Amino acid sequence: MKKTLIALFSFILLTSPTGQAQDAKAVIDAAASALGATNLRTLQFSGWGFDYVFGQSYTGAGAWPRFSLPAYTMTIDFAAPAMRDDRRRAQIEDPPLGGGFQPLATEQRLITLVNGAYAWDIVGDNAVASGFRNDRQPNVIGRTEQIWLTPQGFVKLAASSKATTRTATLRGAKKTIVTLDNATYGKLEATLNDQNLIEHIERWFGHSVLGDTLIEADFTEYKDFNGVKFPTHIVQRQGGYPLLDLRVADVRVNPAVAFDVPANIRNATPPASLVAPPEKLADGVWVFPTYAKSAVVEFRDHVVVIEAAETEAQSIEIIDGIKKAIPNKPIRYLVNTHSHFDHIGGMRTYAAEGATIVTHRDNIPFYQQVWSNPRTISPDRLSRSGKTATFMGVTGTQLLTDGARRLVIYHYAGNMHNPGLLMAYLPAEKILIEADSFSPPAAPLTAPPNALVNLKHFVDSVDRLQLDVDQVIPVHGRVTKMDEAREILAKFLTK
Ligand SMILES: [Zn+2]
Repeated sequence: MKKTLIALFSFILLTSPTGQAQDAKAVIDAAASALGATNLRTLQFSGWGFDYVFGQSYTGAGAWPRFSLPAYTMTIDFAAPAMRDDRRRAQIEDPPLGGGFQPLATEQRLITLVNGAYAWDIVGDNAVASGFRNDRQPNVIGRTEQIWLTPQGFVKLAASSKATTRTATLRGAKKTIVTLDNATYGKLEATLNDQNLIEHIERWFGHSVLGDTLIEADFTEYKDFNGVKFPTHIVQRQGGYPLLDLRVADVRVNPAVAFDVPANIRNATPPASLVAPPEKLADGVWVFPTYAKSAVVEFRDHVVVIEAAETEAQSIEIIDGIKKAIPNKPIRYLVNTHSHFDHIGGMRTYAAEGATIVTHRDNIPFYQQVWSNPRTISPDRLSRSGKTATFMGVTGTQLLTDGARRLVIYHYAGNMHNPGLLMAYLPAEKILIEADSFSPPAAPLTAPPNALVNLKHFVDSVDRLQLDVDQVIPVHGRVTKMDEAREILAKFLTK
Protein backbone atom coordinates (compact mmCIF):
# COMPACT_ATOMS: atom_id res chain seq x y z
CA MET A 1 0.00 0.00 0.00
CA LYS A 2 2.74 2.41 1.05
CA LYS A 3 4.76 1.38 -1.99
CA THR A 4 1.79 1.99 -4.27
CA LEU A 5 1.30 5.43 -2.79
CA ILE A 6 4.96 6.31 -3.22
CA ALA A 7 4.86 5.07 -6.79
CA LEU A 8 1.71 7.11 -7.42
CA PHE A 9 3.26 10.22 -5.90
CA SER A 10 6.43 9.89 -7.90
CA PHE A 11 4.28 9.59 -11.00
CA ILE A 12 2.10 12.60 -10.22
CA LEU A 13 4.99 14.78 -9.13
CA LEU A 14 7.17 13.80 -12.02
CA THR A 15 8.49 17.19 -12.98
CA SER A 16 11.05 16.53 -15.64
CA PRO A 17 10.77 13.32 -17.67
CA THR A 18 13.86 14.22 -19.67
CA GLY A 19 14.96 10.70 -20.57
CA GLN A 20 17.81 12.07 -22.69
CA ALA A 21 21.03 10.08 -22.78
CA GLN A 22 23.04 13.32 -22.44
CA ASP A 23 21.16 14.26 -19.23
CA ALA A 24 21.62 10.75 -17.85
CA LYS A 25 25.36 10.90 -18.48
CA ALA A 26 25.61 14.26 -16.70
CA VAL A 27 23.67 12.92 -13.71
CA ILE A 28 25.77 9.74 -13.50
CA ASP A 29 29.01 11.73 -13.80
CA ALA A 30 27.84 14.03 -11.00
CA ALA A 31 27.01 11.01 -8.82
CA ALA A 32 30.38 9.38 -9.60
CA SER A 33 32.13 12.59 -8.61
CA ALA A 34 30.11 13.04 -5.40
CA LEU A 35 30.69 9.39 -4.41
CA GLY A 36 34.40 9.48 -5.20
CA ALA A 37 33.86 6.68 -7.73
CA THR A 38 35.66 8.20 -10.71
CA ASN A 39 39.14 6.87 -9.90
CA LEU A 40 37.97 4.02 -7.73
CA ARG A 41 39.13 0.62 -9.00
CA THR A 42 38.77 -1.53 -5.89
CA LEU A 43 36.91 -1.10 -2.64
CA GLN A 44 36.64 -2.94 0.64
CA PHE A 45 34.03 -2.28 3.31
CA SER A 46 33.58 -4.09 6.56
CA GLY A 47 31.42 -4.01 9.63
CA TRP A 48 28.83 -6.02 11.49
CA GLY A 49 25.07 -6.55 11.46
CA PHE A 50 22.52 -9.15 10.53
CA ASP A 51 21.75 -11.30 7.53
CA TYR A 52 18.62 -13.20 6.65
CA VAL A 53 18.23 -16.39 4.63
CA PHE A 54 15.92 -15.79 1.70
CA GLY A 55 13.25 -18.42 1.09
CA GLN A 56 13.72 -20.13 4.46
CA SER A 57 10.98 -18.46 6.53
CA TYR A 58 9.26 -20.47 9.22
CA THR A 59 5.86 -20.10 7.54
CA GLY A 60 5.36 -19.58 3.81
CA ALA A 61 4.54 -15.88 3.87
CA GLY A 62 6.75 -14.96 6.83
CA ALA A 63 9.99 -12.95 7.01
CA TRP A 64 13.32 -14.62 6.25
CA PRO A 65 15.02 -15.97 9.41
CA ARG A 66 17.61 -13.63 10.89
CA PHE A 67 21.22 -14.37 11.82
CA SER A 68 23.82 -12.28 13.58
CA LEU A 69 26.89 -11.18 11.59
CA PRO A 70 29.68 -10.46 14.11
CA ALA A 71 31.94 -9.67 11.14
CA TYR A 72 31.36 -8.91 7.49
CA THR A 73 33.88 -7.87 4.81
CA MET A 74 33.10 -7.22 1.15
CA THR A 75 35.97 -6.67 -1.28
CA ILE A 76 35.26 -5.53 -4.85
CA ASP A 77 37.21 -5.17 -8.09
CA PHE A 78 34.82 -3.18 -10.25
CA ALA A 79 36.49 -3.74 -13.63
CA ALA A 80 36.86 -7.57 -13.45
CA PRO A 81 34.08 -7.62 -12.13
CA ALA A 82 35.01 -9.64 -9.06
CA MET A 83 34.11 -9.74 -5.40
CA ARG A 84 34.76 -11.63 -2.21
CA ASP A 85 32.05 -11.75 0.46
CA ASP A 86 33.41 -12.95 3.80
CA ARG A 87 30.99 -13.24 6.71
CA ARG A 88 30.78 -14.86 10.11
CA ARG A 89 27.20 -15.93 10.83
CA ALA A 90 25.84 -16.87 14.24
CA GLN A 91 22.52 -18.07 15.64
CA ILE A 92 20.26 -15.29 16.95
CA GLU A 93 16.63 -16.37 16.44
CA ASP A 94 15.30 -17.70 19.74
CA PRO A 95 13.40 -19.96 19.39
CA PRO A 96 15.28 -21.03 16.25
CA LEU A 97 12.29 -21.01 13.89
CA GLY A 98 12.80 -21.58 10.16
CA GLY A 99 15.52 -22.89 7.85
CA GLY A 100 19.14 -21.88 7.26
CA PHE A 101 20.38 -24.92 9.29
CA GLN A 102 19.01 -23.56 12.57
CA PRO A 103 19.83 -23.87 15.32
CA LEU A 104 23.48 -23.43 14.31
CA ALA A 105 25.71 -25.61 16.49
CA THR A 106 28.63 -23.20 16.04
CA GLU A 107 29.37 -19.93 14.28
CA GLN A 108 29.70 -20.29 10.48
CA ARG A 109 32.38 -18.74 8.26
CA LEU A 110 30.98 -18.16 4.78
CA ILE A 111 33.35 -17.02 2.01
CA THR A 112 31.92 -16.65 -1.47
CA LEU A 113 33.63 -15.27 -4.55
CA VAL A 114 32.97 -14.40 -8.15
CA ASN A 115 35.43 -13.34 -10.84
CA GLY A 116 34.07 -12.86 -14.35
CA ALA A 117 32.35 -16.08 -15.38
CA TYR A 118 33.52 -18.10 -12.33
CA ALA A 119 31.90 -18.36 -8.91
CA TRP A 120 33.31 -20.42 -6.04
CA ASP A 121 33.34 -20.77 -2.27
CA ILE A 122 36.21 -21.14 0.18
CA VAL A 123 35.67 -23.94 2.68
CA GLY A 124 38.56 -24.35 5.10
CA ASP A 125 41.63 -24.06 2.86
CA ASN A 126 39.88 -25.31 -0.27
CA ALA A 127 38.16 -23.67 -3.19
CA VAL A 128 34.96 -25.55 -3.96
CA ALA A 129 32.33 -25.16 -6.66
CA SER A 130 29.85 -22.58 -5.47
CA GLY A 131 27.03 -23.86 -3.35
CA PHE A 132 23.39 -23.39 -4.11
CA ARG A 133 21.70 -20.02 -3.82
CA ASN A 134 18.08 -20.10 -2.86
CA ASP A 135 17.29 -17.04 -4.96
CA ARG A 136 17.61 -19.38 -7.96
CA GLN A 137 19.71 -16.90 -9.88
CA PRO A 138 22.86 -18.38 -11.38
CA ASN A 139 25.68 -17.87 -8.85
CA VAL A 140 27.67 -15.62 -11.17
CA ILE A 141 24.70 -13.28 -11.65
CA GLY A 142 23.56 -13.36 -8.02
CA ARG A 143 27.03 -12.56 -6.68
CA THR A 144 28.05 -9.97 -9.28
CA GLU A 145 24.70 -8.25 -8.65
CA GLN A 146 26.02 -7.40 -5.18
CA ILE A 147 28.71 -5.21 -6.79
CA TRP A 148 26.08 -3.20 -8.71
CA LEU A 149 24.00 -2.88 -5.54
CA THR A 150 26.66 -0.59 -4.00
CA PRO A 151 26.49 3.15 -4.82
CA GLN A 152 29.88 3.13 -6.56
CA GLY A 153 29.05 -0.12 -8.38
CA PHE A 154 25.81 1.33 -9.73
CA VAL A 155 27.49 4.32 -11.34
CA LYS A 156 30.12 2.02 -12.88
CA LEU A 157 27.46 -0.34 -14.29
CA ALA A 158 25.76 2.72 -15.75
CA ALA A 159 28.72 3.16 -18.12
CA SER A 160 27.82 -0.10 -19.92
CA SER A 161 24.04 0.30 -19.78
CA LYS A 162 21.33 2.32 -21.43
CA ALA A 163 20.42 5.00 -18.90
CA THR A 164 17.59 7.48 -18.54
CA THR A 165 16.86 9.98 -15.81
CA ARG A 166 13.91 11.82 -14.34
CA THR A 167 13.23 13.92 -11.28
CA ALA A 168 10.59 13.29 -8.66
CA THR A 169 9.50 14.61 -5.29
CA LEU A 170 9.51 11.83 -2.69
CA ARG A 171 8.18 12.63 0.79
CA GLY A 172 8.64 16.34 0.14
CA ALA A 173 12.21 16.14 -1.15
CA LYS A 174 13.39 16.51 -4.72
CA LYS A 175 15.14 13.38 -6.02
CA THR A 176 16.79 12.35 -9.23
CA ILE A 177 16.06 8.84 -10.43
CA VAL A 178 18.41 7.03 -12.80
CA THR A 179 17.10 3.96 -14.60
CA LEU A 180 19.52 1.48 -16.22
CA ASP A 181 18.61 -1.10 -18.80
CA ASN A 182 21.49 -3.58 -18.74
CA ALA A 183 21.83 -6.51 -21.16
CA THR A 184 22.69 -8.96 -18.34
CA TYR A 185 21.06 -7.51 -15.23
CA GLY A 186 17.89 -6.06 -16.68
CA LYS A 187 16.36 -3.01 -15.07
CA LEU A 188 18.02 -1.24 -12.14
CA GLU A 189 17.00 2.05 -10.67
CA ALA A 190 18.82 4.41 -8.27
CA THR A 191 17.46 7.35 -6.31
CA LEU A 192 19.86 10.28 -5.82
CA ASN A 193 19.51 13.00 -3.21
CA ASP A 194 20.31 16.69 -3.76
CA GLN A 195 24.01 16.00 -3.05
CA ASN A 196 24.09 13.38 -5.84
CA LEU A 197 24.55 10.57 -3.30
CA ILE A 198 22.65 7.36 -3.99
CA GLU A 199 20.03 6.65 -1.32
CA HIS A 200 18.34 3.65 -2.87
CA ILE A 201 18.96 1.04 -5.59
CA GLU A 202 16.49 -1.53 -6.81
CA ARG A 203 16.63 -4.31 -9.34
CA TRP A 204 13.85 -6.54 -10.68
CA PHE A 205 14.57 -10.18 -11.43
CA GLY A 206 12.50 -13.26 -12.27
CA HIS A 207 12.16 -15.68 -9.35
CA SER A 208 10.94 -19.27 -9.65
CA VAL A 209 8.66 -19.01 -6.60
CA LEU A 210 7.79 -15.31 -6.33
CA GLY A 211 7.66 -14.35 -10.03
CA ASP A 212 8.80 -10.79 -10.79
CA THR A 213 10.76 -9.91 -7.63
CA LEU A 214 12.55 -6.86 -6.30
CA ILE A 215 15.95 -6.75 -4.59
CA GLU A 216 16.56 -3.32 -3.12
CA ALA A 217 19.16 -1.53 -1.01
CA ASP A 218 18.87 1.59 1.15
CA PHE A 219 21.95 3.69 1.98
CA THR A 220 22.06 6.14 4.89
CA GLU A 221 24.56 7.87 7.18
CA TYR A 222 27.15 8.58 4.47
CA LYS A 223 30.67 9.34 5.69
CA ASP A 224 33.87 10.32 3.94
CA PHE A 225 36.58 7.66 3.77
CA ASN A 226 39.72 9.12 2.13
CA GLY A 227 37.72 10.91 -0.54
CA VAL A 228 35.14 8.17 -1.06
CA LYS A 229 31.67 8.82 0.34
CA PHE A 230 30.18 5.57 1.56
CA PRO A 231 27.04 4.77 3.60
CA THR A 232 27.65 3.47 7.10
CA HIS A 233 24.22 1.84 7.19
CA ILE A 234 23.07 -0.49 4.40
CA VAL A 235 19.77 -2.37 4.40
CA GLN A 236 18.92 -4.79 1.61
CA ARG A 237 15.51 -6.36 1.10
CA GLN A 238 14.48 -9.17 -1.23
CA GLY A 239 10.87 -10.09 -1.93
CA GLY A 240 9.81 -7.41 0.58
CA TYR A 241 11.72 -8.73 3.61
CA PRO A 242 15.18 -7.80 4.96
CA LEU A 243 18.14 -9.70 3.52
CA LEU A 244 21.07 -7.75 5.02
CA ASP A 245 21.31 -5.04 7.67
CA LEU A 246 24.89 -3.84 7.83
CA ARG A 247 26.69 -1.24 9.93
CA VAL A 248 29.82 -0.24 8.02
CA ALA A 249 32.74 0.52 10.33
CA ASP A 250 35.61 0.73 7.89
CA VAL A 251 36.14 1.42 4.17
CA ARG A 252 39.42 0.92 2.30
CA VAL A 253 39.91 2.80 -0.96
CA ASN A 254 41.74 1.10 -3.86
CA PRO A 255 43.20 -1.73 -1.74
CA ALA A 256 45.35 -4.34 -3.48
CA VAL A 257 43.14 -7.34 -4.28
CA ALA A 258 43.75 -10.84 -5.69
CA PHE A 259 40.80 -12.72 -7.10
CA ASP A 260 42.67 -15.38 -9.11
CA VAL A 261 40.32 -18.15 -10.18
CA PRO A 262 41.67 -21.41 -8.62
CA ALA A 263 42.75 -24.04 -11.17
CA ASN A 264 40.24 -26.61 -9.93
CA ILE A 265 37.43 -24.10 -10.51
CA ARG A 266 38.73 -22.87 -13.88
CA ASN A 267 39.29 -26.42 -15.20
CA ALA A 268 36.08 -28.01 -13.90
CA THR A 269 33.90 -29.38 -16.68
CA PRO A 270 30.24 -28.57 -16.16
CA PRO A 271 28.06 -31.69 -15.84
CA ALA A 272 26.25 -32.68 -19.02
CA SER A 273 23.01 -33.03 -17.08
CA LEU A 274 21.47 -31.14 -14.15
CA VAL A 275 20.18 -34.38 -12.67
CA ALA A 276 22.15 -37.56 -11.94
CA PRO A 277 20.79 -40.82 -13.43
CA PRO A 278 17.84 -42.25 -11.48
CA GLU A 279 18.51 -44.90 -8.87
CA LYS A 280 15.99 -47.74 -8.42
CA LEU A 281 15.50 -48.45 -4.71
CA ALA A 282 12.69 -51.00 -4.87
CA ASP A 283 10.18 -52.28 -7.38
CA GLY A 284 8.44 -49.13 -8.67
CA VAL A 285 10.45 -46.76 -6.45
CA TRP A 286 13.11 -44.44 -7.95
CA VAL A 287 15.22 -41.54 -6.78
CA PHE A 288 16.37 -38.72 -9.08
CA PRO A 289 19.36 -37.11 -7.33
CA THR A 290 19.83 -33.32 -7.46
CA TYR A 291 20.47 -30.93 -4.56
CA ALA A 292 16.81 -31.41 -3.61
CA LYS A 293 16.15 -34.92 -4.88
CA SER A 294 12.82 -36.25 -6.12
CA ALA A 295 11.44 -39.67 -5.15
CA VAL A 296 9.19 -41.34 -7.71
CA VAL A 297 6.58 -44.01 -6.89
CA GLU A 298 4.77 -45.98 -9.58
CA PHE A 299 1.11 -46.86 -9.09
CA ARG A 300 -1.15 -49.01 -11.31
CA ASP A 301 -2.23 -46.22 -13.65
CA HIS A 302 -0.29 -43.17 -12.50
CA VAL A 303 2.89 -41.86 -10.89
CA VAL A 304 3.42 -39.95 -7.64
CA VAL A 305 6.50 -37.73 -7.21
CA ILE A 306 7.63 -36.70 -3.74
CA GLU A 307 9.36 -33.31 -3.82
CA ALA A 308 10.12 -31.15 -6.83
CA ALA A 309 13.68 -30.13 -7.65
CA GLU A 310 14.95 -26.59 -7.07
CA THR A 311 14.44 -25.27 -10.57
CA GLU A 312 12.18 -25.74 -13.56
CA ALA A 313 15.19 -26.82 -15.66
CA GLN A 314 15.82 -29.71 -13.21
CA SER A 315 12.13 -30.60 -13.00
CA ILE A 316 11.94 -30.83 -16.80
CA GLU A 317 14.88 -33.28 -16.85
CA ILE A 318 13.32 -35.35 -14.06
CA ILE A 319 9.90 -35.43 -15.72
CA ASP A 320 11.52 -36.54 -18.99
CA GLY A 321 13.38 -39.26 -17.04
CA ILE A 322 10.15 -40.41 -15.36
CA LYS A 323 8.43 -40.72 -18.73
CA LYS A 324 11.31 -42.86 -19.96
CA ALA A 325 11.35 -45.11 -16.86
CA ILE A 326 7.56 -45.35 -16.55
CA PRO A 327 6.04 -44.82 -20.01
CA ASN A 328 2.37 -43.95 -20.51
CA LYS A 329 1.46 -43.15 -16.91
CA PRO A 330 0.60 -39.57 -15.97
CA ILE A 331 2.16 -37.86 -12.95
CA ARG A 332 -0.98 -37.42 -10.88
CA TYR A 333 0.41 -36.05 -7.61
CA LEU A 334 3.41 -34.01 -6.58
CA VAL A 335 3.87 -34.31 -2.80
CA ASN A 336 5.57 -31.23 -1.32
CA THR A 337 7.23 -31.60 2.10
CA HIS A 338 7.32 -27.87 2.99
CA SER A 339 7.38 -24.33 1.68
CA HIS A 340 11.12 -23.53 1.60
CA PHE A 341 12.26 -22.26 -1.77
CA ASP A 342 14.79 -25.05 -2.42
CA HIS A 343 11.81 -27.44 -2.29
CA ILE A 344 9.34 -25.51 -4.41
CA GLY A 345 11.40 -23.76 -7.10
CA GLY A 346 10.64 -26.59 -9.55
CA MET A 347 7.12 -27.34 -8.31
CA ARG A 348 5.19 -25.25 -10.81
CA THR A 349 6.50 -27.49 -13.62
CA TYR A 350 4.43 -30.35 -12.16
CA ALA A 351 1.32 -28.18 -12.02
CA ALA A 352 1.89 -27.36 -15.70
CA GLU A 353 2.12 -31.13 -16.27
CA GLY A 354 -1.38 -31.49 -14.75
CA ALA A 355 -0.31 -32.96 -11.39
CA THR A 356 -2.20 -32.06 -8.20
CA ILE A 357 0.09 -30.44 -5.61
CA VAL A 358 -0.25 -32.29 -2.27
CA THR A 359 0.95 -30.09 0.59
CA HIS A 360 0.04 -29.08 4.12
CA ARG A 361 -3.29 -27.28 4.00
CA ASP A 362 -1.79 -24.10 5.47
CA ASN A 363 0.62 -23.70 2.54
CA ILE A 364 -2.10 -23.47 -0.10
CA PRO A 365 -3.03 -19.75 0.36
CA PHE A 366 0.69 -18.83 0.17
CA TYR A 367 1.26 -20.82 -3.01
CA GLN A 368 -1.91 -19.43 -4.61
CA GLN A 369 -0.87 -15.91 -3.69
CA VAL A 370 2.71 -15.98 -4.99
CA TRP A 371 1.82 -18.10 -8.01
CA SER A 372 -0.56 -15.35 -9.14
CA ASN A 373 2.27 -12.76 -9.14
CA PRO A 374 3.29 -11.36 -12.56
CA ARG A 375 5.98 -13.44 -14.35
CA THR A 376 7.06 -11.14 -17.14
CA ILE A 377 10.85 -11.46 -16.56
CA SER A 378 11.19 -15.27 -16.44
CA PRO A 379 7.99 -16.91 -17.67
CA ASP A 380 7.78 -20.65 -16.97
CA ARG A 381 5.73 -23.57 -18.29
CA LEU A 382 2.83 -22.89 -15.92
CA SER A 383 2.60 -19.17 -16.70
CA ARG A 384 2.78 -19.89 -20.43
CA SER A 385 0.18 -22.68 -20.18
CA GLY A 386 -2.44 -20.40 -18.65
CA LYS A 387 -3.43 -23.33 -16.35
CA THR A 388 -4.42 -22.87 -12.70
CA ALA A 389 -2.74 -25.21 -10.23
CA THR A 390 -4.80 -27.77 -8.33
CA PHE A 391 -3.97 -28.40 -4.66
CA MET A 392 -4.82 -31.12 -2.15
CA GLY A 393 -4.46 -29.93 1.44
CA VAL A 394 -3.17 -32.38 4.05
CA THR A 395 -3.77 -32.23 7.78
CA GLY A 396 -2.91 -35.23 9.95
CA THR A 397 -2.53 -38.25 7.68
CA GLN A 398 -3.31 -38.80 3.99
CA LEU A 399 -3.25 -42.20 2.25
CA LEU A 400 -2.53 -42.43 -1.48
CA THR A 401 -3.32 -45.90 -2.80
CA ASP A 402 -4.45 -47.78 -5.92
CA GLY A 403 -5.59 -50.76 -3.84
CA ALA A 404 -2.19 -52.45 -4.09
CA ARG A 405 0.56 -49.96 -3.30
CA ARG A 406 0.19 -47.67 -0.28
CA LEU A 407 1.92 -44.34 0.25
CA VAL A 408 1.06 -42.61 3.52
CA ILE A 409 1.72 -38.92 4.06
CA TYR A 410 2.16 -37.73 7.63
CA HIS A 411 2.18 -34.21 9.01
CA TYR A 412 4.64 -34.22 11.92
CA ALA A 413 3.70 -31.06 13.73
CA GLY A 414 5.90 -29.16 16.11
CA ASN A 415 9.14 -29.05 14.14
CA MET A 416 10.96 -25.72 14.40
CA HIS A 417 12.19 -25.92 10.81
CA ASN A 418 8.67 -25.48 9.43
CA PRO A 419 5.24 -25.98 11.01
CA GLY A 420 3.76 -27.86 8.02
CA LEU A 421 6.43 -30.53 7.46
CA LEU A 422 5.15 -33.65 5.69
CA MET A 423 6.95 -36.98 5.31
CA ALA A 424 5.93 -39.85 3.00
CA TYR A 425 6.06 -43.51 4.01
CA LEU A 426 5.88 -46.72 1.95
CA PRO A 427 4.91 -49.35 4.57
CA ALA A 428 5.46 -52.43 2.36
CA GLU A 429 8.93 -51.24 1.33
CA LYS A 430 9.75 -49.72 4.77
CA ILE A 431 10.98 -46.60 2.97
CA LEU A 432 10.54 -43.11 4.41
CA ILE A 433 11.00 -39.89 2.41
CA GLU A 434 11.70 -36.78 4.49
CA ALA A 435 13.17 -33.32 4.07
CA ASP A 436 15.47 -31.23 6.24
CA SER A 437 14.90 -33.23 9.43
CA PHE A 438 17.67 -35.70 8.68
CA SER A 439 20.24 -34.81 6.00
CA PRO A 440 22.97 -37.48 6.39
CA PRO A 441 26.45 -35.97 6.79
CA ALA A 442 28.99 -36.46 4.00
CA ALA A 443 31.61 -37.70 6.50
CA PRO A 444 31.27 -39.20 10.00
CA LEU A 445 30.45 -36.47 12.53
CA THR A 446 33.02 -35.48 15.10
CA ALA A 447 30.93 -32.68 16.65
CA PRO A 448 27.21 -32.13 17.15
CA PRO A 449 25.52 -31.16 13.86
CA ASN A 450 23.32 -28.12 13.25
CA ALA A 451 19.59 -28.54 13.92
CA LEU A 452 20.08 -31.51 16.26
CA VAL A 453 16.83 -30.64 18.04
CA ASN A 454 14.91 -31.04 14.78
CA LEU A 455 16.52 -34.43 14.16
CA LYS A 456 15.29 -35.50 17.60
CA HIS A 457 11.79 -34.25 16.81
CA PHE A 458 11.82 -36.29 13.57
CA VAL A 459 12.98 -39.54 15.22
CA ASP A 460 10.46 -39.05 18.04
CA SER A 461 7.73 -38.54 15.41
CA VAL A 462 8.66 -41.75 13.57
CA ASP A 463 8.49 -43.63 16.89
CA ARG A 464 5.22 -41.97 17.98
CA LEU A 465 3.62 -42.92 14.63
CA GLN A 466 5.09 -46.45 15.03
CA LEU A 467 6.58 -46.43 11.53
CA ASP A 468 8.78 -49.42 10.73
CA VAL A 469 11.49 -47.72 8.68
CA ASP A 470 14.47 -49.37 7.06
CA GLN A 471 15.67 -46.96 4.36
CA VAL A 472 15.42 -43.19 4.50
CA ILE A 473 15.33 -41.09 1.33
CA PRO A 474 16.39 -37.65 2.52
CA VAL A 475 15.59 -34.87 0.07
CA HIS A 476 19.11 -33.53 0.82
CA GLY A 477 21.98 -36.02 1.22
CA ARG A 478 22.53 -39.69 0.42
CA VAL A 479 19.98 -42.47 0.84
CA THR A 480 20.67 -44.21 4.13
CA LYS A 481 19.24 -46.35 6.92
CA MET A 482 17.02 -45.02 9.69
CA ASP A 483 19.54 -46.41 12.18
CA GLU A 484 22.03 -43.71 11.17
CA ALA A 485 19.69 -41.01 12.54
CA ARG A 486 19.35 -42.91 15.82
CA GLU A 487 23.12 -43.34 16.07
CA ILE A 488 23.70 -39.59 15.66
CA LEU A 489 21.20 -38.85 18.44
CA ALA A 490 22.74 -41.50 20.70
CA LYS A 491 26.21 -40.07 20.11
CA PHE A 492 25.46 -36.39 20.64
CA LEU A 493 22.30 -36.06 22.73
CA THR A 494 23.45 -38.05 25.71
CA LYS A 495 26.43 -35.77 26.38
ZN1 LIG B 1 13.60 -26.45 4.64
